[in-house]
Amino acid sequence: MNFDLSDEQKAWKKSVHDFVGKVVKPKAREVDETYEFNWDAVRKGGPLGLLGLSIPEAYGGSNVDMISSSIAMEELGWGCGSTALAFTAHNGLGTAPIALYGSEELKSKWLPLLADGKHKLGALALTEPGAGSDIQGGVITKAEKQGNEWVINGAKMWCTNAGIAEYIITLVRTDPRGGSKSLSMILVPTDSKGLKVGPPEKKMGLHGSPTHAVTYDNVRVPLGNLVGPEGRGLQQTLSTLDAGRISIGAISVGLAQAAMEAAVDYARQRKAFGQAIAEFQAIQFKLSNMAMEIELARTMIYKAAWLKDEGRPYNKEAAIAKLYATEMAERVCYDAIQIHGGFGYSSEYHVERMYRDARLMTIGEGTSEIQRLVIARHVLASE
Ligand SMILES: Cc1cc2nc3c(=O)[nH]c(=O)nc-3n(C[C@H](O)[C@H](O)[C@H](O)COP(=O)(O)OP(=O)(O)OC[C@H]3O[C@@H](n4cnc5c(N)ncnc54)[C@H](O)[C@@H]3O)c2cc1C
Repeated sequence: MNFDLSDEQKAWKKSVHDFVGKVVKPKAREVDETYEFNWDAVRKGGPLGLLGLSIPEAYGGSNVDMISSSIAMEELGWGCGSTALAFTAHNGLGTAPIALYGSEELKSKWLPLLADGKHKLGALALTEPGAGSDIQGGVITKAEKQGNEWVINGAKMWCTNAGIAEYIITLVRTDPRGGSKSLSMILVPTDSKGLKVGPPEKKMGLHGSPTHAVTYDNVRVPLGNLVGPEGRGLQQTLSTLDAGRISIGAISVGLAQAAMEAAVDYARQRKAFGQAIAEFQAIQFKLSNMAMEIELARTMIYKAAWLKDEGRPYNKEAAIAKLYATEMAERVCYDAIQIHGGFGYSSEYHVERMYRDARLMTIGEGTSEIQRLVIARHVLASE
């Protein structure tokens, strides 16, 4: 493995960093306070390729390698957790399953719209009020064939982007007998009759990333809206989540990087006992730990992404990267608040928002507990 980025990846990092510095980071506080989504980032990010990370060039996407995709997510996370989450839900969850498993008809109809930044986004609804970690056993939203249509009934929960999406890829049970071949993915346009997107959830953080409950009341879509073969929904979901976990880890690295930079700036200018607090070894040790942990997490993200790019198995490495990076981001944001003292607890400073935004990362796309189960499965299999 080459431990340096290629010239192309370095240039990409710089262009995304510049974009985020201009269009995303300056609005992070505003989207947190107003709960307004940053549409400007979508309109301007489309031409840069940020909405087509998983979309082949033939359909208008940038289709970058996974390391470059992780770089983009880290930079977005550095700018704004909310906007980063919306972009990763769009790219990794909302468009990747179409690009990977969708029919030619679905790809040519939807992917160009999703990549250009002029339209709404994509979303994926797996979680239900009664099922999150256990989707295989718990999903009860169902789809039945009637004539040349699927008829969908059920309810989903916590769907990122649902209120700002062109469609929601919905995980449904197509075989009531259950089992690993009983789930399927179906593309449901958000203007379908019988589909209701609830109001944005009130959340601890990530206020600029709308999350919604969605209900399906006899929603009818053509049979051709099936994404991938019938009965392959579970396998497609697990594979989608493997890549998604690298992205959530990358966003966490970006959040931690931003929190460390804020802590460094503050420690340099804040005086106590006649000197800058950065002169105290206790503060320096916190900053050292931050720098060390961020670097370790970033390296692990790149390793998992590189394995994916090489076409090699990366299930364990994606779980390690997500687990370490997301829990690391919480530690770093916690210490960044500590370094700010009382001001760290105030919304006048950015670190409290970063702490709130980071908190979701150990839950979404597989909780820390589920990552530990995945890792343990590999460890025990090799002993
Ligand atoms: C802001 C936000 C955005 C989200 N976006 C999306 C989205 O776009 N699409 C989507 O489908 N979902 C989304 N989710 C849902 C998210 O993926 C789930 O919340 C997550 O997978 C956990 O599921 P759950 O909430 O049902 O918790 P549960 O599965 O009920 O888990 C509750 C607790 O039990 C633990 N647990 C469960 N099973 C085990 C086990 N076998 N061993 C040990 N511990 C276990 C969990 O780790 C957790 O601590 C989002 C959630 C949030 C909060």
